[in-house]
Amino acid sequence: MAREEKVEERDLRRYRIKKMIEEIKRKKGRGTELISLYIPPRKRMSDVINYLRQEYATAENIKSDTTRKHVKDAITKVIERLKYYDEAPENGLVVFCGAIPVSGPGTEKMEIYVVEPPEPVNVNLYRCDDHFHTEYLEETLREKEVFGLISIDVNEAAIGLLEGSRIKVLGKYTSGIPGKHRAGGQSARRFERLREMAVHQYFDRVAKHVNEEFLRDDVYPRLRGVIVGGPGFTKNEFIEEADLDYRIKNKIVAVIDTNYSGEEGLREILDRARDILSGMKYVREKRLVDEFLTRLSKRHNMVLYGIDEVVRNIYSGAIDTVLVMEDIDKRYVRLRCPKCGYEKEMILDPSDAMKLEYRPPKCDKCGAEMTIAEEKGLIDYLADKGEEMGFKVVLITPETEHGKIFSQFGGVAALLRYPLNY
Ligand SMILES: [Zn+2]
Repeated sequence: MAREEKVEERDLRRYRIKKMIEEIKRKKGRGTELISLYIPPRKRMSDVINYLRQEYATAENIKSDTTRKHVKDAITKVIERLKYYDEAPENGLVVFCGAIPVSGPGTEKMEIYVVEPPEPVNVNLYRCDDHFHTEYLEETLREKEVFGLISIDVNEAAIGLLEGSRIKVLGKYTSGIPGKHRAGGQSARRFERLREMAVHQYFDRVAKHVNEEFLRDDVYPRLRGVIVGGPGFTKNEFIEEADLDYRIKNKIVAVIDTNYSGEEGLREILDRARDILSGMKYVREKRLVDEFLTRLSKRHNMVLYGIDEVVRNIYSGAIDTVLVMEDIDKRYVRLRCPKCGYEKEMILDPSDAMKLEYRPPKCDKCGAEMTIAEEKGLIDYLADKGEEMGFKVVLITPETEHGKIFSQFGGVAALLRYPLNY
């Protein structure tokens, strides 16, 4: 279970960065004045700041007054942010900063995005352009996880890694085990015993390599699962009897029948892997949606559904898991009254959230014009609250059967730890 939660967390984190990149990519500068800064893992921040100070000095030469001012303001803002770090985090740091026009010329607002990449970003880059350079960050989002493949029968075996849609063959083995028919003169019992010993030696030889290869430092952290395939029952015996490390055993996500073993068998596994993998994700989602539906009919006080209902109880402490449609298009907005400090939170359609920018509502308490203190996508909002309040957030894929059913309940629901009293 703990492993699944880790995967889930990672999925959500990547999803959020992906959404953020989409947003950043759309932003255009007035001129060549948007800064993209990539800092490699563990780099000393004082070095980066010194470099930025030189860039600041160089910016004096920019001819356009506005561009010069914007570039210098952006560099200052980035330096201010970086001062909090002694060195870059373990995956490095990516910063986007610049003046973004809100409606037309002269309406630019300074925006800054600081991102810790999900994978190490070994790029050292400072660029000033009319758009942000997100390409290296996007690269870190590409599927880098691997699956371990084992294809085995009594005659031969192969192990490999599945990376994206590519198989890297790590080893091929033959067993050298004689067939079922004994040579003349041997006793049947003795023959069986020798054969069994040979099988075990073969299993352990393969298992030893599996352990070595799959537990390597550059593989194991990315190893999302292990699939074992082969004709007949040998693969099951292998799992049961071979000296496989428990960490590898725990990662076995599927055992499948194939026609071939060895390298050919690996390719057969690959053909079916995609279904297995998306299946795994969908099975989890479906299980949660089913749980939601069951509770709805039998213990309806153990669920909440609809955006308002869930958001209203977000601080209750009773929420265990929030299910949310991956394609939900709502914004969270927190308004604040600059005069009396009154705050109001709202979930809105994107178009209504945009209208607030130029038509701010009046404060319920004192009537002053409120300002937007915070704005983000609903999924981001739920994920942040999940971290704060200790509940899980699970994205539901829209184009599935369970997704279609679930979408009829307002796109958001919560499974509770205990009933809420009204
Ligand atoms: Zn007020």
